[in-house]
Amino acid sequence: MIRDETINEIRERVDIVALVGEYVRLKRMGQSFKGLCPFHSEKTPSFHVRQDRRVFHCFGCGASGDAIGFVMRLEGRTFPEAARMLAERAGIEIEHENPTEAANAQRVRAHKDRLYALLDAAAGFYVRQLREHPLGRMAREEYLGRAITDETARAFRLGYAPHSWDALATFLKGQGFEPAEAEEVGLIVPRRGGGGHYDRFRHRLLFPIADPTGRIVAFSGRSLAPPPGEEPRAEGEAGAKYVNSPEGPLYKKGDMLFGLHEGRVSIRREAWAILCEGNFDLLALHQAGLSVAVAPLGTAFTPGQAKLLRRYAERVVLLFDGDAAGRKAVRAAQPLLREVGLATTVVTLPQGEDPDSFLRKEGADALRRLIAAAPGIVEHIIDDSAAACRGDASAKAAAIEALGPLLADVGRDNPAEVPLYLQRLMKRFEIHDPEALRRQLAKGARSAKNTAPRRDAPAETEASRPAPAPEALPAHMPELEVDVVGALLDQPTLLGDPTAKRLEELLTSPDLRAILRAAAQMMDERGRLDGPALLAAVDGLSGRDWLAGRISVAQYEDLHQAESRLAQARARLEKDRIKREMDSVKLGILEAVRRGDEAEAAALLRRRNALVKELGTLG
Ligand SMILES: [Zn+2]
Repeated sequence: MIRDETINEIRERVDIVALVGEYVRLKRMGQSFKGLCPFHSEKTPSFHVRQDRRVFHCFGCGASGDAIGFVMRLEGRTFPEAARMLAERAGIEIEHENPTEAANAQRVRAHKDRLYALLDAAAGFYVRQLREHPLGRMAREEYLGRAITDETARAFRLGYAPHSWDALATFLKGQGFEPAEAEEVGLIVPRRGGGGHYDRFRHRLLFPIADPTGRIVAFSGRSLAPPPGEEPRAEGEAGAKYVNSPEGPLYKKGDMLFGLHEGRVSIRREAWAILCEGNFDLLALHQAGLSVAVAPLGTAFTPGQAKLLRRYAERVVLLFDGDAAGRKAVRAAQPLLREVGLATTVVTLPQGEDPDSFLRKEGADALRRLIAAAPGIVEHIIDDSAAACRGDASAKAAAIEALGPLLADVGRDNPAEVPLYLQRLMKRFEIHDPEALRRQLAKGARSAKNTAPRRDAPAETEASRPAPAPEALPAHMPELEVDVVGALLDQPTLLGDPTAKRLEELLTSPDLRAILRAAAQMMDERGRLDGPALLAAVDGLSGRDWLAGRISVAQYEDLHQAESRLAQARARLEKDRIKREMDSVKLGILEAVRRGDEAEAAALLRRRNALVKELGTLG
């Protein structure tokens, strides 16, 4: 548990405009900043950030909150994770409720921080070697040959692991890192028999792998042609096309996606991602402006990666190689993507092409057209299965049976889709008897049920993006009251004014009354309005969403204008109040007369006259 005071200090010290500005291009507009919302796709900015109030709000999708809320949403973090990230950034020591727990957490974090620093130093070393080492040009030629520019290489910090047994080990030692630390993150390997270590990556082009927050956690090293004058290497690890960092305290390959850090803002904004296979495919896609591309690292797509991707995207386009392995990967990914609720389409590239080669030959627009026309993953699998049978009857029967479990799954989640798929099956497999088709599918579904373990309950899906904000005001918030409370929020010094105090009694909307009271109290206690605290004070009220938007954009930037609005509104609301009372007094008089209660009728009449007089003084 992080202490409340620490949370408050984080909110206090983090500059929300600087924070948001790292993800969104912001333009100043009066007292607030405006930009394109990172949480939904839009062409004209409706996303506002206010520095003094420390809140953001989007009028397009309704997203709003403070700095911690921003990080939670954008980076897909839990509250404590987001708070910790921001604390580190602002140099705030996190205070825990429990001192021993805190001391342990501190130790673990300090150790991890050292490992992150080591990996970062190693990445810098490899980048320098790419330029400075005599053989670095071989690594450079490797990516230039695939039309990856130096600029893209720099953005992804590509590097060269020198042709040497201990260049990195020596460098890290010079930087004050222990061999044990470098070994822990897999950069050096202990020699078998005898002491000492050697570098894991030698004479390779290196791709650093960042976690979603941008910290390097691993490397992926691609083999290069042997240096001039050397024999080609034998098969085996030393000659493998790719060597990746082993898993360790910072790196679980099944929970990481290459390119997610670089692409996360676009993915979040556009709500979709491209899943490709290779490191070069990923670079080529980003370079072509498709920065929503991510790639699993030297593994089949995992449930952890599906969950991670779902935190950022709603749709995913699979862009695998057109070969047998690629086709198999599509089928393997289908249940994982379905499980987390990612709508999926599949692009089929021409035979023998991968995204990287296709982009070079045909260009980004051609690829975008393929993406736009890509069929859903179930359609794709049906088409692909049918094409593989090449008209052979027994192959068809087996293929349809194999599709049984998939169709059964679809039927459970989205029964309405099933008839469409059945039609497609009949057409692609050239079957004319729907009953025979159903029987064959059911047979496959039954035998799968008997042999396969039951699928786990659907993974809990993360809170999905917010529902669009209603345009209109809540019904119980009259326009005039909304406007005058807004004016007071814009010019909070007026909250101490007797007129503002009186206003609190005149408002008919309970939500606005509560907001006004909370704001006035905050001004009394702190001398200024704090956005997150104010929102927290009225949490649960339906007027909260209105408040979130209202405090992020000022409308009354001029004090006198707000003051005269206040006076005017007060007069109107006083009149409304008097008229309301007069109506009820009138009813009371009629009632008293009907009962024959003359004393009561006379008292009410006096009250009525007083009200008429009061109304007169208001003009
Ligand atoms: Zn938005």
